[in-house]
Amino acid sequence: MLDGTPIPSLESCPALVLNADYRPLSYFPLSLWGWQTALKAVFLERVNIVSEYDRVIRSPSMEMRLPSVISLKCYVKPARWPAFTRFNLFLRDRFQCQYCGKGEDLTFDHVIPRAHGGKTTWANVTTACSPCNLAKGGRMPREAAMFPLIKPYRPTSMVLNENGRRFPPNYLHSSWRDYLYWDSELEP
Ligand SMILES: [Zn+2]
Repeated sequence: MLDGTPIPSLESCPALVLNADYRPLSYFPLSLWGWQTALKAVFLERVNIVSEYDRVIRSPSMEMRLPSVISLKCYVKPARWPAFTRFNLFLRDRFQCQYCGKGEDLTFDHVIPRAHGGKTTWANVTTACSPCNLAKGGRMPREAAMFPLIKPYRPTSMVLNENGRRFPPNYLHSSWRDYLYWDSELEP
């Protein structure tokens, strides 16, 4: 380019995917589609283009700017109850050990140990760092004098989404801002 601005690679142009209500499908991980997936959805008329990159792609028959924000034409109803996965568990507990508050070396701990009949469920599993997990061992919370900061519970998708918003993405295109932080104060 004449002005020396490097042309961004196609891979660095993902599209932020919004639901039909203009909220991101997911905050964390952020709902992003690669440019090819995004374009395919545009051509299949499954999404509307909300915003575009300056980056243009050309083929013999057409020329268009890559979408930076797209919205689904049909509203996808989020599952009320998210799946019980390691990632969702950490997200519920905001990636913090529920015994000491640290965010490293995370594992999960059965609050009531399995040997005492504790189940692997939302209501009995909590996020714990390895040292705390080791320290608690197979003991009951009272025996170990270790109680989770937040009593384990089954979160709704809304709760996980709210927690996910606390983890801003590493890369944030300016056109995404309004959709990710729509309730934050707008700059004049
Ligand atoms: Zn810990």
